[in-house]
Formats: sequence, structure tokens, C-alpha cells
Amino acid sequence: MGALELPISDIAAKVQSGELSAKELVKEAISNLEAAAEYDAIISYTKGRALEGAAKIDSKVAAGEKIGSLAGVPFVAKDNFLTLGGKTTAASNMLKDFEAPYQATAIERLEAAGAICVAKANLDAWAHGSSTENSDFFVTKNPHDKTRVPGGSSGGSAAVVALKSVPFAIGTDTGGSIRLPASFCGVVGYKPTYGLVSRSGVVAMASSTDVIGPLARTVDDAALVLDAMAGKDELDSTTIDRDEKGYQPTTTYHLPTTKIGVIREYMSEGLDTGVKQSIEAAIEKFRQAGAQVNEVSLPSLPLALAVYYIVCPAEVSSNLARYDGQRYGHSSAEAKTLEDSYFLSREEGFGAEAKRRIMIGAYVLSSGYYEAYYKKAQTVRTKIINEFKEAFERFDFLVGPIAPNTAFKIGERTDDPLKMYLSDVMTVAANISGNPAISLPVGGADGLPIGLQIIAPQKADRTLLSISKAIEELK
Ligand code: GLN
Repeated sequence: MGALELPISDIAAKVQSGELSAKELVKEAISNLEAAAEYDAIISYTKGRALEGAAKIDSKVAAGEKIGSLAGVPFVAKDNFLTLGGKTTAASNMLKDFEAPYQATAIERLEAAGAICVAKANLDAWAHGSSTENSDFFVTKNPHDKTRVPGGSSGGSAAVVALKSVPFAIGTDTGGSIRLPASFCGVVGYKPTYGLVSRSGVVAMASSTDVIGPLARTVDDAALVLDAMAGKDELDSTTIDRDEKGYQPTTTYHLPTTKIGVIREYMSEGLDTGVKQSIEAAIEKFRQAGAQVNEVSLPSLPLALAVYYIVCPAEVSSNLARYDGQRYGHSSAEAKTLEDSYFLSREEGFGAEAKRRIMIGAYVLSSGYYEAYYKKAQTVRTKIINEFKEAFERFDFLVGPIAPNTAFKIGERTDDPLKMYLSDVMTVAANISGNPAISLPVGGADGLPIGLQIIAPQKADRTLLSISKAIEELK
């Protein structure tokens, strides 16, 4: 087993003790990623900066300095995080030559803890999608079956963790983009409470639901990464205070006192048999471990997808308005006037999905339609938030699948945007409500992984990670 396959805390301890060199780990991570090039998970490498950072850590260790909880641990960032030392593209032609002038807070904090970003992962352009097929550059392949998608939009991030190239990756989850690829690739994907990790320096998609989180091999590893990123940031006014106890799972989490609600709306029709069986088997294990398991209904959940696909494009249309070809990003060479430049730069720079969302968003926000769509969606959003609150008065956690199916074939849903949107039917509700949620690998069907979704009350991130670890240990 290579050093990079150890638990993250062991890697960091060995770097701190001088037993492992950060520089060697960075080299190993890059060669792992290069060896797995056939999966097309990586858009670019940040080799120079990574090696420099590693050398600094090694010399600090030699000087007896204390590094941090992620000392020398290489990682991959989804390419919608602003990073120095290379380009940040959001997998869009609009930003294909963009070099960020500063780094995302999440990246800064990971670096402060000693972690080293070695590469930028592929995604659906602007994080719009569920399969990574909307990338303007190439399609990432699922490590379990190259003819299938890795899920999206953080498909590259999930793939590199599943391939064991790096110990962790970071992604964004606006409607499921960490959890869905985690489920399809068989890794742990964690979406924190809205506001727990700063969005500063992350290419904005839908600002009221965008969250940042880790993809890792184990719950402990994911918790350690979250711990390094979490907490208030003056550059993002929506950030919240971190839990003063941190995010390491309590090792003594007691399942028999836990009340688990199985979400009826997610266990009914439309579930693939394999998914249903795996989720039911996991639930049966909780029962055997003594947890009190009951069904719960959140009657407005079936409306969550419609709400999301109104609110999200509305926010997308406003967030993408800044790409006008003037200050940064693609600027059309054909334009003769300023107006031309706006039109042509956007026409050439945005792909089909971004254009679709800009049009839907502008439509639902326009006078005359605002009341019929946007306002109604916000009303139902409040209803969904309240139904979660009520459910959490009776249950500690809610569970269900992440998606009705396992990873689908490349090309299977690309002709039909609605079919693609349906991939998110079980993930978007936790974004709309801001609740923390995890995808935990619990089994498989036909060689393809399946993720269990656990949703917790807002700010209960530490307990969610604790129960997740207890469940991981039930295996
Ligand atoms: N698949 C969803 C969408 O296309 C979610 C994307 C995301 O979470 N970034 O909007």
C-alpha cells in the first residue's frame, strides 16, 4: 500500500515526524494522477506551486516547526475553486485562459493546515450538471466502469478519490454535486450546513444553495478536511461560526439512542431494485444495532426538484451576468462595438447548458412571470424548510438513497435535459433547506457503488459525521 492510501491523520503525522517527505508525496500524487489519465478527471496540474509548498513544509519540519492537521497531504480541487499556480476554468470556454489573482478561502485554509493542491478536477461547466458531460473540455469516466459517468458536477473530484490517486478532493454542492458523484464512484461525499465553509473565491453558481465540502475515502478523512475549512470568514457574510468542539466524529457514538426517519418519498416508486435493496439492507443494520427506525413523510419533497430548477437558474442568470467579455474571461475577437462584444463574448464563451439556465433564470425573474414561478418556488422552499424542521423534532437523522439509480452510461441522458435534471431528485432538497447531508457508500449493484444519504438538522455537522462513522463501522 502506498503512503497516500493511509488515513489522512497518519500521513500528516508521518510528515510531521519526518518519516515521510511532503515533496515525495506530491510527486507520488501527481504520478498517480498521470497514470490514471485515461479517466480524464484532471483539467490541469499545479505542479510548480505544489512542489514549492511541499519543499517549504519539509524544511519547516526539519527546523522542528509544527505544521498542521493536514501536513503534506496532497489533494485535488474542483476547477471552480480559485487557485494560484495555474488556471481556474470552471470547465468553461469562457474561463479557459483565466488565471485567478487570489485563492479561495477554502484553499487558503487547507494550505494553512499543511495540505497541498496538486491538480484541478474536471466538472460540468460552471457546475451545471449531474454527469460531468457538460464540461466544455472532456467527459470524465467512472473508475468502476469507463463506459459510465462518474456523476456530477464534481465528477473529477470523486473519480480521483475513487482511483486512490489522492487521499481527498474538494468539491461544491449546489444541488447534489458532491453527493451524487460520491455515490456513483463509491466514496464519502460531505455537504456541510449552508454557510459552514466560505464561498469566497469559488465560482458562484446559485449563491443561496452553494456549499463546499470534501470527498474522501472515509468519514474520518472527510471530517478532518472539513475541520480545516469550516468557520466564519469576513469575505463571505453568509458564513457561520464553527462548532467549538471541531468536526472529528465522536468515537463513542451510540446508535441505540438514535431515532432515524426513513424518508417515504425517496423509498417509493422509481427506485432501481439494486438501490432499494442496498438502502434497505443498510437500514436493517441500523435496526439490528438498536436504532429506532421509522418511516417519515415530508409531503412537499416531490416538489423540491421543481423549486430547485427555478431558484437555481434564477441565481445562475444573475451570477453569470458578470461574464461580459470586458474585465476577464473570453472576449470575442469579432466584436466591433461594445454591444457586439457583450453578445458575441457570451455567445462564444457559454455552452448550451449555461445558456439554457440563463434563459430559464431570466424568464422566471421577469416581470409578469416572477409571481407565477420565482415567488411560488420561494413559498414552496419555505414549506420544505419547515417540513425538515418538523421532521427533526421527531428524528435525529433522515435517511434515503442519494439517487434512484447507479451510474448511468455516458451519453444516456445528454439529449434530454429534463432526464438529466431528474438525477438530482433526491439531493436538491437538502440544498434548498441548507441542511447538512452525506453520501456514504453502502453497497453496490452489478459492480456499481450505491450511496446512502443521511440528512441532519442544520449545524449538526459533528453529530452527522459521528453517526456516519458509526454506520461505516457496522460493515
Ligand atoms: N446537478 C445539479 C444541477 O445541475 C446540481 C449541480 C451542483 O450541485 N453544482 O444543477
